[in-house]
Amino acid sequence: MNCYCGSDLEFHECCEPYISGARLAPTAEALMRSRYSAFSVGNAAYLLASLHPSKRVSETRESLEQSFSGTQWCSLRIISTSSGGVGQPSGQVEFLAFYRSGEEIGQLHERSRFVCENNQWLYCDGDMLPALKLGRNDNCWCGSGLKLKKCHPD
Ligand SMILES: [Zn+2]
Ligand SMILES: [Zn+2]
Repeated sequence: MNCYCGSDLEFHECCEPYISGARLAPTAEALMRSRYSAFSVGNAAYLLASLHPSKRVSETRESLEQSFSGTQWCSLRIISTSSGGVGQPSGQVEFLAFYRSGEEIGQLHERSRFVCENNQWLYCDGDMLPALKLGRNDNCWCGSGLKLKKCHPD
């Protein structure tokens, strides 16, 4: 199975080593992807560990675990990254994440900020951006890997 984050790699070759603590995410994008995968598998401990310590007050294990139960994450698309590479002190990643909550399909469009401290990338915060409308040639929100027009022809 390909990784939850939508890469071409398997989970154990992609985000799993970061989530398990075997390796540190080398870039802001890798950390962002691994946090998305941690939401998908419901790993609150990793989501807290990869959050900047100054932000851990507002996010608790309980609130995260509550969010897991009602939400199924469907797909992730990285739109752009700025800085956030190996050896850089900070970076930003803009992404779209689609989720299903009951009957509804939701979209999270965010520009997230990350910092690297002691070789460890951490999520700081992000700006919510307006939802994007998918075109018929965009990859489907459901994570099938097919274009929207192929996945749900009308
Ligand atoms: Zn991954
Ligand atoms: Zn689809």
